[in-house]
Amino acid sequence: MIEKARDYLQKYFGYESFRTGQEQIIEQVLGGINTAGIMPTGGGKSICYQIPALLLPGVTLVISPLISLMKDQVDALEQNGIDATLLNSSISGIEASNRMNDIKQGRYKLVYVAPERLENTAFQRELANVDIALVAIDEAHCISQWGHDFRPSYLKIKNLLKEMPSAPTVLALTATATPHVTKDICQSLGISEQHTISTGFARDNLFFSVVKEENRGRFLMRYIEKNKNESGIIYAATRKEVDSLYAKLNKAGFKTGRYHAGMNEQDRSEQQEQFIRDDVPLIVATSAFGMGIDKSNVRYVIHYQTPKNMESYYQEAGRAGRDGLDSECILLYSPQDIQIQRFLIDQSNPSQEWQAQELKKLNRMKDYCFTEGCLQAYILQYFGEENPEDCGHCENCTDKRDSVEVTTQAQMVLSCMLRMGERFGKTMISQVLTGSRNKKIEEFGFQKISTYGIIKNQTAKDVADFIDFLTAKQYIEMTGGQYPVLKVTNAGREVLLGQKKVLRKEIKQVSSISIDHGL
Ligand code: ADP
Repeated sequence: MIEKARDYLQKYFGYESFRTGQEQIIEQVLGGINTAGIMPTGGGKSICYQIPALLLPGVTLVISPLISLMKDQVDALEQNGIDATLLNSSISGIEASNRMNDIKQGRYKLVYVAPERLENTAFQRELANVDIALVAIDEAHCISQWGHDFRPSYLKIKNLLKEMPSAPTVLALTATATPHVTKDICQSLGISEQHTISTGFARDNLFFSVVKEENRGRFLMRYIEKNKNESGIIYAATRKEVDSLYAKLNKAGFKTGRYHAGMNEQDRSEQQEQFIRDDVPLIVATSAFGMGIDKSNVRYVIHYQTPKNMESYYQEAGRAGRDGLDSECILLYSPQDIQIQRFLIDQSNPSQEWQAQELKKLNRMKDYCFTEGCLQAYILQYFGEENPEDCGHCENCTDKRDSVEVTTQAQMVLSCMLRMGERFGKTMISQVLTGSRNKKIEEFGFQKISTYGIIKNQTAKDVADFIDFLTAKQYIEMTGGQYPVLKVTNAGREVLLGQKKVLRKEIKQVSSISIDHGL
């Protein structure tokens, strides 16, 4: 059957050969094995169910979370001569029931449905009369409460599958899954973990960088000015921020679209269309934008604020360079963003376990901003790859600055933390180290400990940055909520005992920037 799959790849899609992972996934699916496929964005997940759909008798049901994506996919399939349709809230009642009749009669090979529809009991009953050979679940990480995009309606899939008389094969697909999330997906959908096929997450054409020491507004203007003719996405944390950047960029003469959930449906789809058609090269958006958008020539993705976790970051940044050409993923870091995210986590959910999990993820996101190792390797490690290779072209890999030994200063910080009883946060620790006369310090009697004022020649801000660096290096760990408490890790203790050296790149000189568009 796999020979036929190769023929179809050529005949229907015009491609010469399968990409890594595709053939293996298709082979398993054709053999009736429930499978999880983990491939990076742009890796070619769709073909993994589209080709089996053509080869298997019966219908392939594709569960996909975004209406706009579904329509694109169905249109593209029809253009290739494949019978496909969709069912979602954009289809009226009569039209939907006509389509359902056609589906029952086997007119379509592929049927795309929104997950919400699965909650509809009438729809569930109707499905029982359809000969379904394969159920493909796109963006399968939405099934996991540990994923960053949990959708309750995805939980219905499990029961739905049980009730399908044709006992279809299941294919779960995602581009972002930590080992924890993969386990959840497999458990929920009856996939045995050994049938997970992961091609790795590496995207060789993406160039990652983190900007920490420049005014982000000015950086953005300068960058866009330099890359005027390229298509880019700018992610901002809030609707208000999106509106404000949108106004400023347009005022500065950069044709820019915008997208957030506060806009009405029509506005949003217009803006999205304009961006996809390259009528506007730029779009400023919240994280509501982009899931499943197939725009291949996005040359850069800039995060104007730090996202809440690495899953969100990699998924959003990964929208750059789907065509395989070199593209940039730039994160503009500011400490306030982390504070805000921490606050939101504290406010949002009563479950302590959930909060602790989210805080942990946020801390890993922050560590990404401070690591001096390869940024791509950091990401891959986060997603569970062991010993990933350095990409050789991210900001850190190409950083030519010399490393200086800072073991003694690290020991000062770590020993100060121990003397203070490991009960305080970064601000207090840096104040003690720099000899601040803050009243609270006196209340605790910290002016009497031997590390008080031991780094007097630096500002509290510099020392706080150094603490962030030590945290990213995992010599310090953060625990607690909005006001985290810092603790010395085992690796930190080795530094204290002189068993480990600490090296840090020389501090960057901030470049002087002349363009200022009032940001
Ligand atoms: P994903 O869903 O994994 O992000 P898509 O399925 O949208 O990716 O595929 C990304 C792009 O790669 C699409 O333009 C698709 O047509 C193309 N593609 C998929 N498989 C192949 C292949 N074997 N050879 C060449 N191009 C492919």
